[in-house]
Amino acid sequence: MTARLNIVVLGKQGAGKGTQSQRLAERYELAHISTGDILRAAVQAGTPLGREVKSVLDTGRLVTDDLVNQLVEERLKEPDAAKGCVLDGFPRTIGQAEALEQLLASDGVKLCLSIELPDELVLQRLSARRVCQECGTTYQDTDVAAISGTCEVCGGDVVQRSDDQPEAIKKRLENFERDTVPLLSFYESRGLLVSVNGDQSMDQVTAAIEAVLHARGLG
Ligand code: AMP
Repeated sequence: MTARLNIVVLGKQGAGKGTQSQRLAERYELAHISTGDILRAAVQAGTPLGREVKSVLDTGRLVTDDLVNQLVEERLKEPDAAKGCVLDGFPRTIGQAEALEQLLASDGVKLCLSIELPDELVLQRLSARRVCQECGTTYQDTDVAAISGTCEVCGGDVVQRSDDQPEAIKKRLENFERDTVPLLSFYESRGLLVSVNGDQSMDQVTAAIEAVLHARGLG
């Protein structure tokens, strides 16, 4: 069996992590694993997990390492992860990064992409972000779907995420500094970290990422 291609995508919220992870997963037939999406879906569905984490998500704090590590462990067993995965929003802490090394065993993480964006642009982007509650399609506040409140893809409700409110954004940026910045050193020391400028169009960021994979003989 060929080694699996496991890629970690790091970046502040609003840096384009979700879109780029989705594109990477489609292009290389990898599982797109977004812990934020899994947790939000649980909240939306009102499952026991969802009830447990709702208030944590609403205020932009982090759920416990044990809980997300377990979610990722289960998700990695699904068939679409056979060729590898793109991890979006996980790991968020060194504890999670260490757990991930255990979970992926010999295949390991092959690349860690850091999509860089200054805080002012994060605030601008997140304040304007609207999302379909049903299918997760994102819009800008000026888009027709955001103004009408109806998703163009599935007809679901288009809303502002509770954690895209200014106070929660601030909290999430603080979380990023405290918990995620050390991860950059973690992956850098393993020779796996590559930074990509997030202040360009989505297609330009995608092209930059593909160039990185190509240069590293991964794509
Ligand atoms: P995201 O969509 O990645 O911004 O995640 C939304 C929220 O889900 C975060 O603000 C956290 O409350 C929670 N969350 C997502 N991923 C993780 C993780 N790896 N560790 C802890 N909490 C997480």
